[in-house]
Amino acid sequence: MTELPFPRVRQEISRQAADPPRSAADPLAPETPQQPPESPPIRVARVVPETVAEGPGNRFALWVQGCTIRCPGCFNPQYWTSRGGTEMSAAELFAMIPERRVEGVTLLGGEPFEQAAALAPFTRLVQDAGLTVMSFTGYTLEQLEARAAAGDTATEQLLAATDLLIDGPFIREDLDHERPWVGSRNQGFHTLTPRYSHLQGAWQQLPDRLEITVAADGTTAVNGWADSETLDALFAELRRTKQ
Ligand code: SF4
Repeated sequence: MTELPFPRVRQEISRQAADPPRSAADPLAPETPQQPPESPPIRVARVVPETVAEGPGNRFALWVQGCTIRCPGCFNPQYWTSRGGTEMSAAELFAMIPERRVEGVTLLGGEPFEQAAALAPFTRLVQDAGLTVMSFTGYTLEQLEARAAAGDTATEQLLAATDLLIDGPFIREDLDHERPWVGSRNQGFHTLTPRYSHLQGAWQQLPDRLEITVAADGTTAVNGWADSETLDALFAELRRTKQ
């Protein structure tokens, strides 16, 4: 799919300004409004408003642009550069979610935790709406927790707003054909809140799906997970049927 359904109207995140301190010299002096620091925009590579192939249930899937980890064999090398994609605010992205039809949002990459400061406000909006947040990361949970413990508040906030984390880099020599959604066996499932704790230990029983969308103009888009041989065979078949 070459075009993303980005909304035309820009919306701003409404934030409650913190009470500014009164002047010590003149406690009755008018307060100077202080604006909270603007959160950076999210660099978006791709959006699929509804999918059943990127986590539990029907989900809004967001691929972010930019990843410095660069695992050999990564399926999305076009999302490595941080120069591509489209910048969007948390409110703009949130407005794209079909709230009544999805149970949550999945963050994929690119590397979501390299945009933690931009994504944390978005994931807070998602959780405040009663939806779940699932995120993939090429870092390990241990690395992210160490970052948060060292004072990286953006990482701490994004972890706090994540219900289900799938961590670890993709290792192409160790493909996982048993569990859904993950690429390699080193990658871990971590339920960081109780929202998906009922699924702990039952991941293998969940279906792994590949979704193919054919737009009216014939453009084909694929999401979900399959190994390269399966994808090569699939695209060869699609090319053959188009001829
Ligand atoms: S972390 Fe994910 S997006 Fe980044 S290189 Fe590895 S597989 Fe690709």
